[in-house]
Amino acid sequence: MALLEVEDLTVRFYTQEGVVTAVDGLSYRIDSGEKFGVVGESGAGKSVTALSVLRLIESPGRIESGEIRFKGENLLEMSEEEVRSIRGNEIAMIFQDAQTALNPVYTVGEQIAEAIEHHMDYGSAEARDRTIQLLDRVGIPEAEERFSDYPHEFSGGMQQRAIIAMALSCDPDLIVADEPTTALDVTIEAQILDELSELADDFDVAIQLITHDLGVIAQVCDRVMVMYAGKPVEKAPVEDLYYDPKHPYTVGLMSSIPRVGDPRDRLQTIPGTMPDLVELPSGCSFHPRCPFAEEKCTRTEPPLVDLETDREAGIETERAAACVEYTEGLSRGLDYTVEVDGPVDETVRQYVEGGSRE
Ligand code: SF4
Repeated sequence: MALLEVEDLTVRFYTQEGVVTAVDGLSYRIDSGEKFGVVGESGAGKSVTALSVLRLIESPGRIESGEIRFKGENLLEMSEEEVRSIRGNEIAMIFQDAQTALNPVYTVGEQIAEAIEHHMDYGSAEARDRTIQLLDRVGIPEAEERFSDYPHEFSGGMQQRAIIAMALSCDPDLIVADEPTTALDVTIEAQILDELSELADDFDVAIQLITHDLGVIAQVCDRVMVMYAGKPVEKAPVEDLYYDPKHPYTVGLMSSIPRVGDPRDRLQTIPGTMPDLVELPSGCSFHPRCPFAEEKCTRTEPPLVDLETDREAGIETERAAACVEYTEGLSRGLDYTVEVDGPVDETVRQYVEGGSRE
């Protein structure tokens, strides 16, 4: 049994402007100890998916249908009290903004120790010891002295490390990390992502990592789901996604990976913006931005297809994409070549040069 199984999840927000379908019929699974990435631009539905897993969708939002099974139990059928005992305990979270996650009036150490006392039934001395060990383990120097520092005395990178320590403090099985390094500069970001990946292995914890950046996915994840306008448009093991992306939107995201220091300024973006979720374009909702769009793309909404069986993808499907090319076929086909060269993220380069494939 997978650790987390999300099946046919639909989440809507009832706003004055209309009904926003933020997540539409989404299915995926995460196995124990696995690092699963969810990538897409803002408005793709990534964060709403994360909040749903934590059952934190608030009015005017509503989980309309689907199941979210954690260790086989449907979170959507549990009482608020049952969910609260799972949240922060078996499922922990790391959000983008460390400053809002840390309370400015308590010391960093006190906050982590309190969570340990509360969730794990530790005495205060034991909780303090465990906190210091964790602060040390996430790379905070002189952890014992830093225990008594207030959040404002920590740099942004240190604060994010403290949040990771807090997430790990109760020995969770799953960490949901929503853009955990976006606010940090590139060097610190790379260090923290490495650390997060290593800690996940050491603590045998699964991660659902949400980001807009495929470079971040490459650094951390085993498998990835690409989302667009509330739906999954591609699912793949990370290596396959980089070698052989199957959806034009994924190709667009790849060409948006910033190549730091590249003098040719290869940073490209996908033209246009995410559509209005109240009034999605007809057919494939990516068609107004897609360089391969044909007339039939405006008529047919392509299902997510298992690329091995050509059948509709299910929760177990490893390799899937949602494009007319894989159902009716496009008359001109998907004519792109993937070329990732130059000083890209080290992991991506390894993949593309074949280093880690052998
Ligand atoms: S269905 Fe058409 S518009 Fe949509 S991604 Fe495929 S080619 Fe592009």
